[in-house]
Amino acid sequence: MIRGMNYGLYIHVPCCLRKCSYCDFHSQAMTDGETRAFADALESELDSLPEDFSPATIFIGGGTPTALPEDVLSRLLGAVRGRVNTGRVEEWSCEANPGTLTEGKIQVLLNGGVNRVSLGIQTFDEKLLKFLNRIQTGEEALKSFRALRTAGFQNIGADLIYGLPGGSTRQVENDLNRLLELGPEHISCYCLSIEPGTALARMSVSEADDEEALAQYRLILKTLGAAGYEHYEISNFARTGRECRHNLLYWEGGEYIGCGPSAHSHWNGTRRANEKDTQDYILHGPRRAFEERLAPEARARETLVMSLRKIRGVSQSLFRKQTGFDYYALCGPAIEKLIADGLLKQDGDFLQLTESALFVSNQVFVELV
Ligand code: SF4
Repeated sequence: MIRGMNYGLYIHVPCCLRKCSYCDFHSQAMTDGETRAFADALESELDSLPEDFSPATIFIGGGTPTALPEDVLSRLLGAVRGRVNTGRVEEWSCEANPGTLTEGKIQVLLNGGVNRVSLGIQTFDEKLLKFLNRIQTGEEALKSFRALRTAGFQNIGADLIYGLPGGSTRQVENDLNRLLELGPEHISCYCLSIEPGTALARMSVSEADDEEALAQYRLILKTLGAAGYEHYEISNFARTGRECRHNLLYWEGGEYIGCGPSAHSHWNGTRRANEKDTQDYILHGPRRAFEERLAPEARARETLVMSLRKIRGVSQSLFRKQTGFDYYALCGPAIEKLIADGLLKQDGDFLQLTESALFVSNQVFVELV
């Protein structure tokens, strides 16, 4: 590890009050006792972090970290502070869901070192919230956001989902307007995809029509652009200087260590992931689901694909410096074909997705790996 290099810490909390109908993250309802046993196991894993581990970013995700009992959440944050040198931390995010955020937990987050909260709002539409099996109402989402602001959080992100079966551009417009009244610093908008194993897949629900979802995405770009948010990643928008630094690490091929069941790491050039089994994690500690050291060329291709997610694109000179490869030498014919097809463009030093590629970016990425 290069001294002084920015790297991150991710902690996966696999606890939710109940399962949303679209969710394929590793999470489950946990008893009070299980949350405490999970905290014990997590502390042991944190003990195995490299000496003087000094991340620039910490991200506590899940799951719903704020579904943990207040004292367990407090203990978890204390365990991080006890085992990590937080002197270099610029951004410490925690995911939270409306319906789990009490005044007490908000204070625990504030006092525990968290300086950015990512709130899972998804939609304000009551019918769609029920369809998604979310635990909150639209009103509760508003209250949670305001409570975070009143308590002193100056960096709040909010997540929305569009492309919902039964949704519409009018509904997305309504969601955006209600969210903009709250004035979050960061907004993520994800298109619903129905993944195997989820309740929606079991119910054989079909995804929204592509054209309808694209119209909603265009509306999001237009509305958030007009409201002064910078579109900096395919699904992410931020006020100036409020981009999520932890996620930028992922998109720039940076290094991080993940703790908790299902957590991924990219450390010293090696990728690894913990098994998705919370009971096993509690009983035996983290077991590796996989560990692989990518060859330099494969690693460079991966960095290219991840970095293309950023609207600014990939700097040819920086990419060469970071990976040792020129991206035209790596995959020149594929890049040239994608440029000819109007899906990529070279703008000075930067290779970028074109506007028409943003909604079909996976078609581009598949050509480059
Ligand atoms: S709150 Fe998030 S992690 Fe939990 S079940 Fe819902 S989508 Fe999944």
